[in-house]
Parts: sequence; structure tokens; C-alpha cells
Amino acid sequence: PDNSGSKSRNSFRSLIVGVDAKVPLDNGTYTTGINFDNAATTPSFTTVEKEIHDFLPWYSSIHRGKGYKSVISTDTYEAARDVVSRHVGAGPSDVIIHTKNTTEAINILACTMSQKKDGKDIVISTWMEHAANDLPWRDGFKVEYVEIDQFGRLDLDDYEAKLKKHQGKIRLVTVTGAANVTGYLNDTGTLAALAHKYGTLIHVDGAQLVPHVPVDMRPEDSVEHIDFLSFSAHKFYAPFGSGVLIGPKTEFETGVPFCKGGSAIQLVTHDRIWWEEPPVKCEAGTPNLIGIVAMTAALKTLNRIGMQNAFQHEKKLLDYAYGKMCNIPDIHLYSHPDKQQSIGVIPFTVEGVHHSLVSAILAHEAGIAVRNGFFCAHPYCERLLGYSAAQIEEIAENKKPFPGLVRASFGIYNTFPEIDKFINFMHIVVNNKK
Ligand code: PLP
Repeated sequence: PDNSGSKSRNSFRSLIVGVDAKVPLDNGTYTTGINFDNAATTPSFTTVEKEIHDFLPWYSSIHRGKGYKSVISTDTYEAARDVVSRHVGAGPSDVIIHTKNTTEAINILACTMSQKKDGKDIVISTWMEHAANDLPWRDGFKVEYVEIDQFGRLDLDDYEAKLKKHQGKIRLVTVTGAANVTGYLNDTGTLAALAHKYGTLIHVDGAQLVPHVPVDMRPEDSVEHIDFLSFSAHKFYAPFGSGVLIGPKTEFETGVPFCKGGSAIQLVTHDRIWWEEPPVKCEAGTPNLIGIVAMTAALKTLNRIGMQNAFQHEKKLLDYAYGKMCNIPDIHLYSHPDKQQSIGVIPFTVEGVHHSLVSAILAHEAGIAVRNGFFCAHPYCERLLGYSAAQIEEIAENKKPFPGLVRASFGIYNTFPEIDKFINFMHIVVNNKK
């Protein structure tokens, strides 16, 4: 990998499908596309492409089929649980539930938790959550949102105060491992230790965590363990359609599953349903086995790379890009300059240029893909931009141009020269403002 701002070649690039693909520009020419939208979705590893290709002749129905291909498919489906489990250090009493993505995983968890009838109806969430880890909890729970500071970082004092205030009534804590807007890595060990101290469980939304840092759900004998973890494979170099929810099997044994149908059942009469054991109980319907093959291949490749190596490379890109962006006039940056505990995400705006215009100009005139808007984390972005609830209501009701930010987010295959091109182009954008 690159280890400085030099032009050295990043060896991770050869692992990515289509990394040098040419994209069209508005002036009629083509350029090698730059993808700084990795927080949304990453391109695929070549190993993933090969595994999918090699597996295609072999897929068939899983679990009940006795044919040769069905046996191979079932083995592949089940073995994927072990690969996932090892990658994040899940424990022997955890189940790995195959889902289509993080959103589905969290909906399954919220549905399961909402059926526990012991009067614990408070969920502690935070201001920095993606909608996937916010909206599912609004049904059936009273959600308490932990405060953030002026830079959007979690307020640990408020977290502990809320745990103390609602002790005994909290169903669980649900918090993102890394914020998709600002890139902050939350200290999940400390958050977990405090949750356990006050007698509650913790779910970590790992959508932005698992792709970028090593994760160990159950460090030995530690109060810092993570009880539930969810994530999506399309954010770590596999295509769409697979994700997981991990947590103690016992937690999923009672209640009805979020999605009901075939596979999830042992026996059914018109009066009664005997559900399968978890995790199968939570996996109704024919699964996306090819997606699971892709996820497994991606995790194996990430293991070979080493998550610490991936994190270090992305951190160097982040430091390099952030340092340069600080020197561009009229650019507002929305995260704290201390990048020690951050994944490679930079939220910004350009004074006087609408966020969607900035990302359109980058795409159309430089072939650089970024994302803009509220990134499905509306309350967080509204706070970062300083909008009150009343102002947001006014915007929504009157269909005014939506406010928003621009986000550049890096992956292991991005390079310093790509950042140089982006920075040069941002100077042009700023210098050509009316
Ligand atoms: N949580 C976080 C922090 C995310 O960034 C995302 C996606 O951007 C999600 C959850 C939802 O992931 P998915 O769309 O794969 O379900």
C-alpha cells in the first residue's frame, strides 16, 4: 500500500474489480473514475468475483434438498456462519443469522426485543444513528437519544446519566460502531462496559465498523463484550444482498420471527406453528446463497489483508485528505480535527454552492464519485448543520431545497494521487464560484 503522499502504487488496488474503469465526463472525454463513496457501497474484490463464478454451477435449494448440489449449498450456507463468527470473535452461544443487510438485521432484533414482556420498554440510542438503527426502535419502545457535542461526538456523561436514570427499565443500548456521516469510531468497549454495569445489553451497528477495523465481540472474560452485532457485506467488497445479525441464541428462542414463512418452521397446522430453532427461525424464505458466498470470500480476503493494515492505510488517506481540505478556502468541515479514532470519512460543504451541485460537478467534470445529502442520518446532519426541528418541518412541508453535506469516504484501494486530484478539483470549484 501507499505509505506516504508519494505516487507509489497501492497493492490493494489489484484486489478490486473494475478499479481503473473509465467514466464519461461532460466534455465528451473519459477518465479513470475515482470512487470516494465507499461508506455507501464498496466495489467487489476479485476473489469475490471468482468465488461467485466458481459457485454458480453448484447452487441449489438448501437444508431440505438431498441432491448433491443441495448438500454442497447447505454446507456452504452453514460454513459461512463460522467464517463470520471467527471474523468478529462471536462466542459459542451466539447465533449468526443470515440477513439481506444491516437494516433487516436491526429490524429482526427490534422485533425480537419488542416481544419480551418484562416491562423494559426503554431503548438507549444516540443522536448519530443511521435510520436503520433508529426507526426500527421507535415501534414499541421509548427511545432515549444520547447527546452529542458540537463536533458530533458522543457525550459519554450523558450516556451514563441515561443508563443511571432508566436503570432496570432499559431493554437494550443500540449504538453505531462508527458514524457514517463523521467517521467517528465509538469506544464500543467503554459503551459496553457501562451498559453491562447498569444491567443491560448492547447492540452495535457494525455497518461502518466491520469493514474498517478489527472487531472482537467477546474478548475473554470481559465486561466490554458486544451482545449483538449487525453488518452488511456490500460495505466490505462484496456486492449487495447479504448481511448478518449476531447475538445469543437464547434471546431469539422466544417470540415470533420478524419474517414469517417457509424454512423458519418445524411444523404447522392451521391452528399452530412450531418454529425452528434460531438462527433458522429468523431466516424464512429462500436465502441469497450467492450473496453469502460473496460475503464469505470478502471476509477471507480481508483476513488475509489484516484489518489493522486496512485501518492504517485508510487512516493515512484520511489524515492526508483532511489536512489538505483544511487549507481550501470556503470549505466547511464538519468533524473534529483529531482523527485518531475515525474511519476514512470527511463531511463538508462549500460556502455558497449547494451540496448536490458540488457532488454533480465532481462526478460530471472530474469523474469523482462522492455522496451528498443527509446520508440516512437526518437528525445527526440536522444538528451538525444547526437546523432546529421547526426549520426542518418548514423545509419538509414547503418542499424547499433540502439542506445537506457532501461526504468523501475512502476504501483500502484509494490512493494519495486520487486525493490530490480531488483536492485540485475542489480548489477549482471554490475558485470558480460566482
Ligand atoms: N448503519 C450504518 C451506520 C450505515 O452506514 C448503513 C448504510 O449506510 C446502514 C446501517 C444500513 O446498511 P444497509 O443499507 O446495508 O442495510
